[in-house]
Amino acid sequence: MTQPPLPPSPPPLPLRAPRALPDDPAQAAERDARYMRAALEEARLAEAAGEVPVGAVVVWNDTIIARGHNLPIRSVDPSAHAEMQALRAAAQVIGNYRMPECELYVTLEPCAMCSGAILHARLRHVVFGASDPKTGAAGSVVNLFEQAQLNHQTSITGGVLAEPCGQMLKDFFGARRRAQKAAQKAAQGASAQNAAPQPAAGPDQNHDTEA
Ligand SMILES: [Zn+2]
Repeated sequence: MTQPPLPPSPPPLPLRAPRALPDDPAQAAERDARYMRAALEEARLAEAAGEVPVGAVVVWNDTIIARGHNLPIRSVDPSAHAEMQALRAAAQVIGNYRMPECELYVTLEPCAMCSGAILHARLRHVVFGASDPKTGAAGSVVNLFEQAQLNHQTSITGGVLAEPCGQMLKDFFGARRRAQKAAQKAAQGASAQNAAPQPAAGPDQNHDTEA
């Protein structure tokens, strides 16, 4: 059996030293907020697709080279978190699965799977918005970013635009709860009339971070 040929890789980006990060704290905060706003735009795309609103961008040399948003339901893929989507796209742009010059911005604290992928990709730095008390692997449940035994360490910053990042999730889950209640009420009314069966619960959604 011969393996099908792999698709051609895109030409790698010319390697240049990463642009130095601003020393001025105000400039650094403005830079973080700028890229987090881009990640929020991606989160809105997830929401429009009926997915839990989480978005991510990968930054190389002060340029957004890849974007991704949560898509596990549509793609029927439990690994299709925003970070994974953005990392896969970035690796194609860079032409390498290791991206030590890249930073990732994501609206929600990464889970264990995404943190693992981030460490395998050897990213330089990760910035996240809202904390995830249910599956966060950057300090909320576990912290995979401070394991000295691991062969690579990626630095991490949390809480950048945490309020709008978290509010988008709260609004999403609030609307979903209201829709589920309305559906239950309608089903109860129908079953009272003709003993119709209850509708099945919707698919479990990743990043199911209800406050
Ligand atoms: Zn994840």
